[in-house]
Amino acid sequence: MTGKLLVIGFGPGDYKHITERARNAIQESDIIIGYKTYVDLVKGLLSGQQIISTGMTEEVSRAQEAVKQAEQGKKVAVISSGDAGVYGMAGLVYEVLIEKGWKKDSGVEVEVIPGISAINSCAALLGAPVMHDACTISLSDHLTPWKLIEKRIEAAAQADFVIALYNPKSGRRTRQIVEAQQILLKYRSPATPVGLVKSAYRDSQNIVMTNLLDMLDHEIGMLTTVIIGNSSTFFYDDLMITPRGYQRKYTLNQAVQPLKPHQRLQKDAEPWALEQSDEFKPDGNEAVSLTAKGTPREFAEEALRMIEGGIEGFQHPFVNQPIQTIFELAVSTGVANKKFTPKQMVTLSEVVGEEGVMEYTQDHSIKLQILTSHPDEIVRKLEEANFLISPVGDVLTVKACDFCDGEKKDAIPYAEELHERLGGMELPKELKLGVNGCGMACYGAVKEDIGLVFRKGAFDLFLGAKTAGRTAHPGQIVAEGIAPDEIVGLVERIIQEYKEKAYPNERFYKFFKRVKRVQGFSYQDITPKIKIDAAVCGE
Ligand code: SAH
Repeated sequence: MTGKLLVIGFGPGDYKHITERARNAIQESDIIIGYKTYVDLVKGLLSGQQIISTGMTEEVSRAQEAVKQAEQGKKVAVISSGDAGVYGMAGLVYEVLIEKGWKKDSGVEVEVIPGISAINSCAALLGAPVMHDACTISLSDHLTPWKLIEKRIEAAAQADFVIALYNPKSGRRTRQIVEAQQILLKYRSPATPVGLVKSAYRDSQNIVMTNLLDMLDHEIGMLTTVIIGNSSTFFYDDLMITPRGYQRKYTLNQAVQPLKPHQRLQKDAEPWALEQSDEFKPDGNEAVSLTAKGTPREFAEEALRMIEGGIEGFQHPFVNQPIQTIFELAVSTGVANKKFTPKQMVTLSEVVGEEGVMEYTQDHSIKLQILTSHPDEIVRKLEEANFLISPVGDVLTVKACDFCDGEKKDAIPYAEELHERLGGMELPKELKLGVNGCGMACYGAVKEDIGLVFRKGAFDLFLGAKTAGRTAHPGQIVAEGIAPDEIVGLVERIIQEYKEKAYPNERFYKFFKRVKRVQGFSYQDITPKIKIDAAVCGE
């Protein structure tokens, strides 16, 4: 008979959340070793196994007993709640074995069977608070020095981890959770959402949603797990939720605009990525400096005054928690004007700040990415400085030349009207409309999705340029001499047709090629078939 150690995590406590392997392992064992409460929890699964249950603090002797029995040829189930490898018996069992010179290949067989740990079961009951980087910290200083625990809380608080506090409090250990709260308040808003889950999936289950400041007003005990949100965690309808991404993006005309999957990996869609900047730091991470020294109560009262007094960036979650977002928009000095004033440059640097991003684009505009909870304020300042503001993304952008600084000014009003009527319109894919003031077309209108060239008092219309790639080509001329008073309406109808009939993400040139006719203008296949000679290799 060969012995075996089965180190089993049986999950939060109800039979539905035990894995099949854990269930079978319990059944195939000869002996069950575990804390009495745990043995009681799995009683219904037993079929005559010998039970060795000792007190809570005798974990080492339980592990020693288990090893001894296995060495004598018994199949021994050592049970832990949750996962046996998370403040459970798995490590201890190995430590006892190693102490005795055990080797994996020659020694008694060990199988560690995973279970659902409290961080997972409690998170599920709260909503989705552990969506982002998270850690577990046990506040039990029974086997770990308090100084080390303190250091870990401090580091986790500072680094904006979602934190699951295990063993937060017991009959004798009551100060640890108070100390932990004080450390957390140094780095996080008093309004940070906190979930308290007692006895998840057991008969006495109890769930409380609170915040960092008020959490100690509720019952916290041996069977509670305390989940502290990060700086973007929020409450919604009695659920505690941490967004999957750190920031949510939005454009002017859409409050919340999650990135589409194909955009995620683009550098400009993720300004906070390593490649983009290693300095990026969301405001939410910044320390709140509380100055009160003294009792926790004085400390908490100061924090309360701070939120009631309305500190920048802090609001009570139940009132209206500000959600920090990357506000993304494009600014230019005008459809025809290409000149910046010094005041405009100063305004730009003010609104963008140290941590925002300003990027010059091919569209004669500067794209801004600003982390803020007050986009309206930013828009107001930019408008005051006479900036033209446009949304970014899959929208229509009107690009125009500088009309030779106004000398060739006849077409300017049409370009401006097009911008006013259509600029920023949401479309299946980004679309550029180029307007040039003379036949030189030096600003490249014919290379845009739709191009207008003003010549001899009327417009020439170009459709379907392929603006990038090895097979790039200009748009094809579909009409000449369109009367100025017809142009805005015509362009609007073309764009409307594209908006209605194009597939999502279908660029204008592909759409034109596919449908063959747009507003009566026909597509002609003019892509030249060029024979490419084989390269002459050096002889
Ligand atoms: N191995 C266990 C943790 C043991 S430490 C696991 O992975 O979950 C004991 C602590 O775990 C408790 O103080 C409590 O913080 C947490 N805990 C365990 N079971 C729990 C449950 N059902 N509900 C809430 N918290 C629980």
